[in-house]
Amino acid sequence: MGIYRDDAPPPLFVPDLTPPAGAAVDADGHVTCLACGVKLPLSKADVVGLGYRCLACTEKAELAALTAGASDVAVNLSAGDRKALRRAGWKLIAPGVLAIVAGIAVAAFASARPAGYLIFGGIGSCMLGFWRMRAAR
Ligand SMILES: [Zn+2]
Repeated sequence: MGIYRDDAPPPLFVPDLTPPAGAAVDADGHVTCLACGVKLPLSKADVVGLGYRCLACTEKAELAALTAGASDVAVNLSAGDRKALRRAGWKLIAPGVLAIVAGIAVAAFASARPAGYLIFGGIGSCMLGFWRMRAAR
């Protein structure tokens, strides 16, 4: 129902709630680690976005994140989700670059204060876009 009685109702979005292939549980309650492939009881497995992971692999991933800044996004987001995250980053970088160019043009032909706002906003938009793209790696 919309705000007014004559408004069309908003489309119903039903997300795909089917579990990923890595989230399969055997009949005896065992799951497979996504990283190393070892079978372990479900009660001892860590849940990640695409299935399950053993404690040793989770510790390795956390250590790699702390020491080298490595990301374990591959076990948490599907390839399509990571692609959408990169696309979302570009959607912030493109207007950011346009705002920086517009800010430089305004600085050349008009006052400095609006130019500063445009350049500052453009840099912020580019940084946000780069962070989103970096999160997909
Ligand atoms: Zn493992």
